[in-house]
Amino acid sequence: MDERLPESEEEWRKRLTPEQYAILRGKGTEVPFSGALLKEKRNGMYVCAACGNPLFSSDTKFDSGTGWPSFDESLPNAVRFVPDTAHGMRRTEVLCGRCGSHLGHLFDDGPKETTGKRYCMNSVCLAFESEKEKK
Ligand code: FE
Repeated sequence: MDERLPESEEEWRKRLTPEQYAILRGKGTEVPFSGALLKEKRNGMYVCAACGNPLFSSDTKFDSGTGWPSFDESLPNAVRFVPDTAHGMRRTEVLCGRCGSHLGHLFDDGPKETTGKRYCMNSVCLAFESEKEKK
């Protein structure tokens, strides 16, 4: 992973696949139940697919039944939030705290026994690093 962040959308387009670009930079949403990481259950770290910023520990992943990888907490200072009123809804958009790419949305219907939060993430916006692969 190139540590330097792209300075233009053109650079982002070259770095990402067309699907990644459409969702990370174009704020799209992947088809539910389509994501490669939906059923990932190994221990490890979920990082931003665009810049490698660590976002979620596997300890916080849960099966929300929505078809998108879901987490009940992000790593400290890993993400930023912005109000999103697109599509006639009031939602909280979740952005990578490092590169500003779109990741998904935050909802308040997560597991009550933990945080009550549900980070609804696009699988295509995440890369998984299993514990064994960690340096
Ligand atoms: Fe990022």
